[in-house]
Amino acid sequence: MSHTATAADVAVVGGGIIGLVTAERLTARGLTVVVIDEAGIAGGATGASGGLVRAFDPSGHHPVWAAAGLEAYLRQGRHGTWPRIRDQGSLTLVARSTVPCAADAVSQLRAAGRKADVLSAQEISTRFPGLTVPDDLAGVYEPEAGWLPVRAVATAVLRDAGPELHLKRARATRLLGTSCRIAGVDTTAGPVHAPAVLLAAGVGSTPLAASVGVHLPLRTRSVGYCLFEPRERADLAELPTVVDRTTGAWLRPWGVGSLVLAGVTSEETDVPATVQPGVTAREEQRVRDVVRHRYPRLAQAPGRGGITAYDAMAPAGHGEVTVHTSPAGLVTATGWNGGGFKLAPAVGEFAAARLAEAVS
Ligand SMILES: Cc1cc2nc3c(=O)[nH]c(=O)nc-3n(C[C@H](O)[C@H](O)[C@H](O)COP(=O)(O)OP(=O)(O)OC[C@H]3O[C@@H](n4cnc5c(N)ncnc54)[C@H](O)[C@@H]3O)c2cc1C
Repeated sequence: MSHTATAADVAVVGGGIIGLVTAERLTARGLTVVVIDEAGIAGGATGASGGLVRAFDPSGHHPVWAAAGLEAYLRQGRHGTWPRIRDQGSLTLVARSTVPCAADAVSQLRAAGRKADVLSAQEISTRFPGLTVPDDLAGVYEPEAGWLPVRAVATAVLRDAGPELHLKRARATRLLGTSCRIAGVDTTAGPVHAPAVLLAAGVGSTPLAASVGVHLPLRTRSVGYCLFEPRERADLAELPTVVDRTTGAWLRPWGVGSLVLAGVTSEETDVPATVQPGVTAREEQRVRDVVRHRYPRLAQAPGRGGITAYDAMAPAGHGEVTVHTSPAGLVTATGWNGGGFKLAPAVGEFAAARLAEAVS
């Protein structure tokens, strides 16, 4: 990989999972790509991600991308060399009143060849004795789903992209071209000329888009997690990934040793776009107070740190790939709001197809 590339078919700003998968899909189509990132790969939200992947999308915003994303992760990428999913199963808890919608989604997943079941609270308690689920909740259980080590995935995607991907470690400072036609990206290490540009730089995309007159409103939202070390570990290996739609709690086994990673959706916005190791005592208490209702072993478990980070949030609250017509050649893929990792293979496929059209 060169750090000096000055021209390519496509310039991608952002070496997170969205930019990397798109770049890999572009090189698979025979196109040359320069990925520009000031932090190398996975330096933003991606590197902090919990890596939970599943096909069921209770938000209803991206059901097709979530299912296709899981399928790609199960295939382990183009050459079958990405890390395999830690298939401890994924359990998404929903209010019992929404079970008809969940059952409908499960039928569609099954029709597409995925394994999924709706479980009652009673069935969940029997199957996963460590979990406590009240009767007014139900769960969608996907035995093939689980979580992935995000940095290892990012490295594997970069490797799959091969020599047609050049990684340029620099800050993108503005887009080149006019409001009619994109011509590349200017960076702190010189210009990259390209007839098509993908902005996948999280909130860093906004000022770059503005440099060619495109309004791309994004803000940061706090996303982080805590690590806990439960004293009772007997069935930790059987603990599925859990996402509780009713409280915003989510958790998974850490993977090595005896830790559990747990987070709770935060409404805090406009936080710094930084990834910091550790969590405040207040955050640890906030997370513990919620997750202990589903996994009581965390009520007394000592905290072992965590991550304080962010993701980019679009005004609509969910991510989008947008093909801009002025300037032509510009595609944006931003605003994933805490859920972009599981979607990335499908988002990348879609964005790459649009960029290839722009180049041809
Ligand atoms: C704590 C945490 C847990 C999460 N857990 C999950 C999960 O379990 N499952 C799930 O599906 N999703 C999860 N997410 C969300 C998911 O990680 C993100 O949605 C996804 O990683 C976003 O990827 P991205 O490529 O869009 O952005 P990023 O990974 O943020 O990449 C953007 C890149 O752009 C670069 N950049 C910005 N501005 C510039 C510039 N001017 N010049 C050059 N480079 C620039 C940055 O350095 C960064 O590397 C989680 C997120 C966090 C923070």
